[in-house]
Amino acid sequence: MVLPLRHGRTTAGRGPRILTALLVTGAALLTVWLLSLHRSLAGDIALPWWGLGIAYFLATVAGVHVTVRNQAFTFTLSEVPLVLGLAGSSPSALLAGGLIGTAVSLTLYRRQQPLKIVFNLAVFAIEADVAMFVLNSLLAGHAVASTIGWLAILAAAVSASTVGQLLTALIVAVSTDARRGREVAGILRFVVPASVLNTLLGLTGVHVVGHDAQAAALLVIPVAALAIAYRGYLFERHRHAQVRRLYDTSGALHRSHGGDASITTLLSQAREMFNAEVAEVVLLPTKQGDVRRCVLGPVESAGLVTETVASSDPAVALATARTPVLLDPADHAGLLAARGCRNGMAISLTGEHGTAGALIVANRRDAVSAFGRDDLELLEAFAGPASVSLDNGRLEAELEYRASHDPLTGLANRALLAERMQAALDSGRQRTCTVLLLDVDDFKTVNDTLGHPAGDQLLIGIAERLTSCLRPADLAARLGGDEFAVMLASSSDTDGAVAVAERILDALRAPFHLSGCDVTIRGSIGIVGDNPSIVTVDDLLSSADLAMYRAKAQGKNRCVVFQPVMQVEVMARHQLRVDLERAVSDEAFQVHYQPIIDLDTGRITAAEALVRWSHPDRGSISPDEFIPLAEETGLIVPLGRIVLEQACRQLAVWQRTDPRMQLSVNLSGRQLQHPGLVDEVASTFARHGINACYVTLEVTERVMVDDQLALDALRRLRGLGVKIAVDDFGTGYSSLSILRDLPIDSLKIAKPFVDRLARSDDDRALAATIVGLASSLRLDTVAEGIERPDQADIMRDAGCRGGQGFLFSRAIPAEEFLERILLPPAGAPVISLAG
Ligand code: C2E
Ligand code: MG
Ligand code: MG
Repeated sequence: MVLPLRHGRTTAGRGPRILTALLVTGAALLTVWLLSLHRSLAGDIALPWWGLGIAYFLATVAGVHVTVRNQAFTFTLSEVPLVLGLAGSSPSALLAGGLIGTAVSLTLYRRQQPLKIVFNLAVFAIEADVAMFVLNSLLAGHAVASTIGWLAILAAAVSASTVGQLLTALIVAVSTDARRGREVAGILRFVVPASVLNTLLGLTGVHVVGHDAQAAALLVIPVAALAIAYRGYLFERHRHAQVRRLYDTSGALHRSHGGDASITTLLSQAREMFNAEVAEVVLLPTKQGDVRRCVLGPVESAGLVTETVASSDPAVALATARTPVLLDPADHAGLLAARGCRNGMAISLTGEHGTAGALIVANRRDAVSAFGRDDLELLEAFAGPASVSLDNGRLEAELEYRASHDPLTGLANRALLAERMQAALDSGRQRTCTVLLLDVDDFKTVNDTLGHPAGDQLLIGIAERLTSCLRPADLAARLGGDEFAVMLASSSDTDGAVAVAERILDALRAPFHLSGCDVTIRGSIGIVGDNPSIVTVDDLLSSADLAMYRAKAQGKNRCVVFQPVMQVEVMARHQLRVDLERAVSDEAFQVHYQPIIDLDTGRITAAEALVRWSHPDRGSISPDEFIPLAEETGLIVPLGRIVLEQACRQLAVWQRTDPRMQLSVNLSGRQLQHPGLVDEVASTFARHGINACYVTLEVTERVMVDDQLALDALRRLRGLGVKIAVDDFGTGYSSLSILRDLPIDSLKIAKPFVDRLARSDDDRALAATIVGLASSLRLDTVAEGIERPDQADIMRDAGCRGGQGFLFSRAIPAEEFLERILLPPAGAPVISLAG
């Protein structure tokens, strides 16, 4: 006989209740009818009802549990007392003893739920009724102790077991589904032979007891042995099934292709293997990131649930435990409670590449057993293929991570960013792709002055601050060098993007501590938002680039939103470049000259040559616009040659009037890098018969910082006798202390510095200090951009010899300049200029 212990997960449903009620009614009617038919059974021994009760109790207790597809059943030896009852007792004693013995064992020993007990008792009554009916029908007056009697009892017992098993299958089908019901019915293969065996044993018992009641003791050992044999057989079957499952598991894991699919396979195999409702892996992060848990169950139909957990979660400690552990409510209350689990076990999953995490299985599906030693052993065996699978998964993830991330900062790389942008563009939704492009100004300076390790530290620091300004759904990437990009989550609009950009610029403002120095950097951000004209990733990036360059041009440390008009400007810039090339090849430039005045005497001592370009369509274009373009394109080299040539020719002319007249010519960094520069300069002087000591070459501070090539060129130029001036001093980085080592002769104090002079006593004191320090280094000083007489006065009082600015004269054509030299100095140190 088979007792169902648990009918799937829907035991409390209406179906099982109704079926149980029907069975109880049926059993009662059947029993009443049978009892009215047969007052007594044809026995020759008279067993009392309580004796049968004890026999039933023992037979049920000695049962063997077996699990078939989530259903636990108990095979009992109940045919033995059934045969005893049929052969040697009254129907009422059999029913009473059986009902009471079974009820006591189910309640006290098995602790079944009431509904199950009622069901099992109804099934028992029906089985007993069927057995009695079959027996009486077949006996038809024959004695029980005869061949026919024995065959009749055998048929009765087997019929009873079969009916019982079919009723069990019925309730399983009603509580879960028809498939499971059929599976349970399939156990008949095992039930029928077992019940034949049990019945024969019972008959032997009856026979023995009939002859000599004391000889019944002889039967105790064979019955016990049979029970043990059942147990052993079922255990081996179970083991065999587990080994097969283990084998299947490693195959399935091997075939799955990493990622969530592998984890789902692993967890569902674990659930089946250990007959558990819940299976979970806790995954430790590979590099950076959070601890994740992936859970399957307890809801049968729910898929894989993945979430991040705090690194303080008790499951994290299990990942490093050396041996598998049983999770009992006493020691692991927190862990079980957090997961809503009753019992479980856990094991560390450690592969070749370290500990990947922990596997937890929890909540045994059947109510009979919790996890035990055997399960732990099996779990250890299961952990092997599971670890290999996770390890492979991790390795794949690691490779994928490396292919898509910047190794230095851990941000996404250009490829990953492009992929996400493409996906956003493909999705075609509005405002799906808002991109910020950040360029770090001054990064090169840090790298050059503090060294590459400091540069790397800076990039890492920038990446950290950048991510701290973003939401988790935004994607930050390093595109290379000092260029970063952010793709904002889909809901962002341009205003939101500007707010993010401001946050980033703000975050970058605080100094970075690098190699013992505090370094301040600035960023320029270009923003490109939803724009119908942008359809490709390249469009997006180049538009963001345009906006970013605009931000740089506007003075850095700001953000600029891309406007389609910028595209037009880029076209215009391209056109300007073409025009500039032509102008260079046509030598279509003029040079104008701005006087440099001796502030003490008001006499013109020198002229700064400033190039002028009259564009055929646009008219006069400022050097501030085309000089950077010429530097960028390298056109500055031939352009510089043209200016030097014109200016030297002019100086030769002026020196015929004023032999002390001097000339200043601007030189850009790009020209200094040009290897032929020094020879060209020397030959130009020679051609025009000019002594190099009358010529000053102006170079900005930036050009000289840490550029050996430029410094060498400057030294050789000085070797010719040329003077070198630092142009726009006070706007760059170099401090007075490094001036000492530079090959220079004078400082030109930048206009913004001069502009501040009149404002405060402090500024005036600073001007005096700079001039004083410069003269102590034997450097001459020229104040640039003097527009008001008070500025000239202050600078002169501070000890500055030279002055230049609109107060005296703008840059003017050569002929006009000649007239000015011819003018006598106006006594006062002011040569005013109208227009
Ligand atoms: P820079 O060498 O510092 O030249 C001084 C600039 O300040 C000139 O502008 C000049 O016109 C302007 N300036 C002079 N006094 C005043 C004043 O009182 N107020 C104001 N607001 N501005 C004043 P310009 O000619 O537009 O030249 C701009 C820059 O272009 C120059 O700055 C120089 O860096 C570059 N540049 C000009 N010509 C050449 C050249 O032939 N070669 C190279 N490499 N660069 C040149
Ligand atoms: Mg200059
Ligand atoms: Mg200047």
